[in-house]
Amino acid sequence: MATTSPFGFPYPDLPSHTVLGYGVYGSEGDATSNRKLHHIKHQQVSSTAQIDNRPIEEMPYQSGEFVAIKSELNEMWPAIWRVDGKTLLQKYEPFENDGKVLYRNISTYAAWNPENKKLYTQVPVKVRSQSHLETIVELVRSELQGDECNFIEKRMLETQMYQENFEVYIQTLISHALDPNFLTEIFQEQDEYFLSNVKTVDEVTESMRQRVSCSNARSLDAAVDVWPGLSVAAGGSGACRACTRPAVARLLLYGQPYNPATLEPVQPNARLAYEKEFLLCTTCCGRVQLYSRISHQKYLMYAECSKRVAEKRMQNPSKDTTDILNELLADEVWLSQLFRDVRHSWAEAESWERKMRQVMTRQMI
Ligand SMILES: [Zn+2]
Repeated sequence: MATTSPFGFPYPDLPSHTVLGYGVYGSEGDATSNRKLHHIKHQQVSSTAQIDNRPIEEMPYQSGEFVAIKSELNEMWPAIWRVDGKTLLQKYEPFENDGKVLYRNISTYAAWNPENKKLYTQVPVKVRSQSHLETIVELVRSELQGDECNFIEKRMLETQMYQENFEVYIQTLISHALDPNFLTEIFQEQDEYFLSNVKTVDEVTESMRQRVSCSNARSLDAAVDVWPGLSVAAGGSGACRACTRPAVARLLLYGQPYNPATLEPVQPNARLAYEKEFLLCTTCCGRVQLYSRISHQKYLMYAECSKRVAEKRMQNPSKDTTDILNELLADEVWLSQLFRDVRHSWAEAESWERKMRQVMTRQMI
């Protein structure tokens, strides 16, 4: 059962692995760092030895194979990891050599377990050189992957222009997490500052949602719009609900339906009997996960803000709400990561639309 996160996708760029060592042991690849590196590695292997008794199928890749975090694959040069035994991944970082980007091992390790393994996917590499200190590999990307990757990078640069709108959008959602009447009140008061910025972000998101919607799967998309939770389980016999290819996954929808403007819980439309279970092929399953993430973007961003607010309240129950708001808005790393995640989903939507157009053009020729 390959269940995704409560919201139906692994949180992008937030791998749940633990980074065990960071590159603080001198320049990468020198003899000293490598000795220390070996030492760390050895310690970690012995401290996690009990995991080694788990069935092999829980660790889908062989030692020596390379994997990358799926959500980072569209980056120009994602970090890649070499599978090291059953419980460790060693990080390889990109560097430039004669105008070519290659990867070499660094002294960063991550734990690899059944919980976080689904965040990774195998990537093909060519070994360029290997010594007892350093291994240099090249990431093999098909032209198509490279092309899609460039397209996504380009689109993400262009949507950077919404940064100020996005910051107010997040400020609104943090405020709503601090005071559950906030959204309703700004609508009642017609608060131009918040409403106009939220509207700008909502409109871009809506245009992206339409790009990923599928005219052959209206009832599926309508159900996905209603239920914010989504999980995917492998298996299922029959035809895909959206096209007619053989199904490979069972999609389950769940969660509390809500009003997209105020995020208040609502009852689903009683006249429509929404289904919550669908069989899908690989392609349609990928589309529906992206569609759900964009359709429920505000809800998911609100969930993230609520989580951060709850953490702040836990640390200091008497902290003033204004202080919590200001602290969260000052967390630039967090804010830029959220903005990046949203722009990445938007760019994926445009990439999806482009791919569909290319398929249609090919069919017409
Ligand atoms: Zn399909």
